[in-house]
Amino acid sequence: MTDCIFCKIINREIPSYKVYEDDEVYAFLDITQTTKGHTLVIPKQHVTDIFEYDDVLAAKLFSRIPKISRGLEKAFPDMKGLNLINNNKELAYQSVFHSHVHLIPRYSKDDDFSITFKNNGDNYTPETMSQIASTIKEVIDHE
Ligand code: 5GP
Ligand code: ZN
Repeated sequence: MTDCIFCKIINREIPSYKVYEDDEVYAFLDITQTTKGHTLVIPKQHVTDIFEYDDVLAAKLFSRIPKISRGLEKAFPDMKGLNLINNNKELAYQSVFHSHVHLIPRYSKDDDFSITFKNNGDNYTPETMSQIASTIKEVIDHE
């Protein structure tokens, strides 16, 4: 895609700090370095977000993530954890519309990074949970 910043990075029109590349996947340092080694993993094929992947492209991208994660772990022995983040659409904080997975190494509780999951479980009865699950399952089963 011509006006996509990540396609330009793949095509070397914009420089990047590459950490991994093969025929299908490219990985490079996120410019913000939320923590040391913060890496973005992207498919070379331009897809906007998770909703555009087919099974083959998903397998290609996600199969590389354990290898790159282990690379980070070995490169930085002080790394104590890793968050994988994939934002999809603006509401969910996506700002570059070429799909990517963030690998964010964690070194301590004081890393300048946090995710919180509010527990709203008390607002859902078992019946509602069951209904939500079957609504989703029904759609997936007919895909
Ligand atoms: P998003 O907000 O879409 O989940 O993440 C986009 C990420 O792309 C941001 O963390 C941002 O720092 C990174 N980014 C945006 N432009 C560039 C760039 O030109 N080079 C690199 N290396 N990262 C970029
Ligand atoms: Zn692109």
